[in-house]
Amino acid sequence: MDKRNCVSESVLTAGTATAGGLMTEFSLERILAEPRKYRYETHMHTKEASACAGSTGAEMVRAYYRAGYSGIIVTDHFFNGNSCIPAHLPWTQRVELFCQGYENALREASKLDFHVFFGWEYNDNGAEFLTYGLDKDFLLAHPDMLSWPIEKYLRVVREAGGFVSQAHPYREAWYIKEIRVFPELVDAIEVRNASHTDPEFDEKALELANKYGLYHTGGSDAHFAEYLPGGGMEFDCELFSIEDFIRAVKEGRGRVIP
Ligand SMILES: [Zn+2]
Ligand SMILES: [Zn+2]
Repeated sequence: MDKRNCVSESVLTAGTATAGGLMTEFSLERILAEPRKYRYETHMHTKEASACAGSTGAEMVRAYYRAGYSGIIVTDHFFNGNSCIPAHLPWTQRVELFCQGYENALREASKLDFHVFFGWEYNDNGAEFLTYGLDKDFLLAHPDMLSWPIEKYLRVVREAGGFVSQAHPYREAWYIKEIRVFPELVDAIEVRNASHTDPEFDEKALELANKYGLYHTGGSDAHFAEYLPGGGMEFDCELFSIEDFIRAVKEGRGRVIP
């Protein structure tokens, strides 16, 4: 079956059942004909690379699979964020270690009907940028990237085909000394972060995105398999690659899960 077509996969015939004696009625036909939605996590961490995460890439895959998601984008904290990769190692080794959460997740997903895509969360003094669409080779090719001013980082990654969403731009937290937003230098804004307890953080983010006509992304910032905050994005079609994800967001085919 071609999973790319957005037509409901299950057009089975089934009778309508009523629960005997109870005032409940449900239609199996209705349930089966309901168009399938595909949920993806766009922002999450693994303990292979993020110092603040408590679960491996493989554990995160299992948790999201059980929770009904179709896939995840692993966005570990890059070296300028809450990274657990030793800074004294050679660049190549650091990048290899950084990618392990993603690679372990990918390996686990190969046993399941589940997708794992690569990204990272780049930090500049508390302002954080979810970077999608680039791969390990990009990181290996730029061993000097940590010395770039943030404006240069955002320009270079986007010129290389990357898609950047500023993560939780209005989050207030102990580790964010100052709120800095870069609407003119990014593609999208994370308008919903399911880890937020103050709705105002997301309301302001949505306002910013709309004011500048930026794309919307939504994610959860999960760090532990035992605690998935929910959220993410929902699509009518299955996404098979990070390029599919970027295209779907740009074409407005993604819905940010509230
Ligand atoms: Zn973290
Ligand atoms: Zn994060």
